[in-house]
Amino acid sequence: MSMLGLKIDVDTYWGMKNGVPSLLQTLKEFNIKGTFFLSIGPDNSGRAVLQLIKNPLFVKKMMRTNAPSLYGWKTALYGTLLRAPMIALSFPQIVNDIIAAGHEVQFHAWDHRRWQDELPHKSEKWIREWFDKGIAGFEKMTGKKPTAFGAPSWLIDDRVLAIIKNYKFDYLSCTRSKTPFIHEIANTLDIPSDLPCFEEIDAQKGVLIISDLLKDGKTHVLPVHAEVEGGIFQNQFRELLKKALSMNIEVVPLKAIKDKLDIKTLSVRKYKMELLPGRHSPCAV
Ligand SMILES: [Zn+2]
Repeated sequence: MSMLGLKIDVDTYWGMKNGVPSLLQTLKEFNIKGTFFLSIGPDNSGRAVLQLIKNPLFVKKMMRTNAPSLYGWKTALYGTLLRAPMIALSFPQIVNDIIAAGHEVQFHAWDHRRWQDELPHKSEKWIREWFDKGIAGFEKMTGKKPTAFGAPSWLIDDRVLAIIKNYKFDYLSCTRSKTPFIHEIANTLDIPSDLPCFEEIDAQKGVLIISDLLKDGKTHVLPVHAEVEGGIFQNQFRELLKKALSMNIEVVPLKAIKDKLDIKTLSVRKYKMELLPGRHSPCAV
């Protein structure tokens, strides 16, 4: 039986508060489990305004996805005019609900926005503190250390991989590669998101495009965002799940894919950065 892994990223306060409960309801109805990658610390989404000035591709993406309606206007002000609220740390009950429902919970970010916009300019000390604060917050809420990390916006560099080594994660999900591999510097498995997400493709044809890619009978990972599939694209997401299940595909958390992998057969290599269709900045592949 082929598998479809659900990599569900929670990037914002809005997504944690509204998107996660909506997704939990959907997954419950379909009786399936996924992996939630949580942003723990401040929601500095409003700082994205700075990207409008710097990156024309970002403007294009914001217009295509109608970002203000996607995240609400308040989100657009967090970290600028409004104080940045904590994301997962503000909702311990929702974190408990995810765990109680039997889903896998892992670490996505301390400050998602700053990583995604400023990582190349930050020091190694900043990166270390970012992990330390995020993992401490994660542990406070779940009682455990995370065993996996998914980098915000699939953005990593060599320094990040060297630092990651210290945390001894069982696996990473930091790339958009087509198949799993071992990261050279971190010597750690990567289970990539190989499928496109709804925000990257034509919204009307999204279900068709993604379900077509599932037809090869191989294992795939779908990147899901609490803000998107738990918000305006919830109906399309349900339709896609229905399609996958009707194709006899087993929908699983990423750890289930990890358990089935034969690590010895995977290639050990360095990631590359690549600008994928529908994205405004390069991703690791
Ligand atoms: Zn994210």
